[in-house]
Amino acid sequence: MSEPTAEQLQSWDRSLVWHAFTQMAQYEPMIFERAEGCVLIDIHGNRYIDGVSSLWCNVHGHRHPKLDAALREQLDRVAHVTSLGASNPTTIKLARRLVDLAPPDLAHVFFSDDGATAVEVALKMAFQYWQQRPGPRPEKTGYVALGEAYHGDTLGAVSVGGVERFHAMFRPLLFEPLRLPVPNPYRMPEGVSAENLTAYHLDQLDNLLAEHHGRIAAMVIEPLVQAAAGMIVHPPGYLRGVRELTRKYDVLLIADEVAVGMGRTGKMFACEHEDVTPDLLCLAKGLTGGYLPLAATLATDEIWQAFLGDYAESKSFFHGHTFGGNPLGAAVALATLDVFDEERTLETLQPKIARLAEHLARIAQLPHVGHVRQCGMIAGIELVRDRATKEPYPWAERRGQQVCDHALSEGVWLRPLGNVVVILPPLAIATEQLDQICNAVRRGVENVE
Ligand SMILES: *Cc1c(COP(=O)(O)O)cnc(C)c1O
Repeated sequence: MSEPTAEQLQSWDRSLVWHAFTQMAQYEPMIFERAEGCVLIDIHGNRYIDGVSSLWCNVHGHRHPKLDAALREQLDRVAHVTSLGASNPTTIKLARRLVDLAPPDLAHVFFSDDGATAVEVALKMAFQYWQQRPGPRPEKTGYVALGEAYHGDTLGAVSVGGVERFHAMFRPLLFEPLRLPVPNPYRMPEGVSAENLTAYHLDQLDNLLAEHHGRIAAMVIEPLVQAAAGMIVHPPGYLRGVRELTRKYDVLLIADEVAVGMGRTGKMFACEHEDVTPDLLCLAKGLTGGYLPLAATLATDEIWQAFLGDYAESKSFFHGHTFGGNPLGAAVALATLDVFDEERTLETLQPKIARLAEHLARIAQLPHVGHVRQCGMIAGIELVRDRATKEPYPWAERRGQQVCDHALSEGVWLRPLGNVVVILPPLAIATEQLDQICNAVRRGVENVE
């Protein structure tokens, strides 16, 4: 077959490839062929700064020499080994590194291949734990989840998800968790202020657990930032309070760090900001530096112990994904962790986080910006029709997309969440590139009205 032309690629991309979260009737092909560091290059040779880390997963930039070399080295050994009753040195070494790095007590690693699968694993482990631990509590089968939560697109993950626009359609297929409202400092319930927002939401959780804890297996949360909800940053102390209450009521805590883990918030794991150790911790996206699909669910020894027994007792975790723990993914994950050390990524990130804050303060002054929020290298800019009433733009007007369209014309590639413009560059972003992203966004927001 001869090489397709750019026109052919575009035509096939429109008609053959069914893109995720994309209205294919209106899809405009955006075909990236190569990358250099934090820059993506399309098939026409146009260069764009990767302003959203190729959907929240790139960490050290694209084509990092260390990461590329680690992959090539692993290829010279073996590309895939199953994790069903077998192993390989690279995956074992990654488990060792993750356990050493993670918050204390997380001592075992179950590998899968995506964020959604990491969450499925955690949900099912929590369920099975209560069925078969010493002193079983088989009636603990329910879950607590937050409004606007996003945990992936498989049915278990969608069940605990709460983004109406994505999830309502599938309701008949789902199980129902107990749901609490998202703690959102921008849209607080009546009578609640910034001072008592944390206490208000923790009271609600306390009341819910007081009544229902006997039938709840676990609470699942995106620690600090609910990403897909629009980068909503929880008020300080909320995560810590959730940990205290779930302990008090004997409910497991699942921390979904798929988006916020791997340095994104300025610390390796978001839970570290509030000295929290969850019972189960989910990682994916940045785990491989954004190179390959690999996910991990870390569990405490207490959970692990409940699955041990004689084969005939049937206590095994009967769950697996063909490519879980794939050695290529593990090799590039190990290299990703090495680069964190060698390039002192978390240290050099701090001034960039401060720089992002300066830009956001300026953007916050613009007339149709209702709220700006930031946690580490995550920023959300919520556009509203009316600042005084916080009245949102109708989602179909695609205001966020308009800003991103403008940014594209300045060589910056972004993808919004409805009316929220997201800035989430690779941690390796250069300060000048960060400035370019933020300036393009600012001009885009100015242009919207
Ligand atoms: C992206 C995301 C997921 C899903 O990860 P996939 O790899 O797309 O399945 C789960 N949880 C959170 C918090 C996410 O941001």
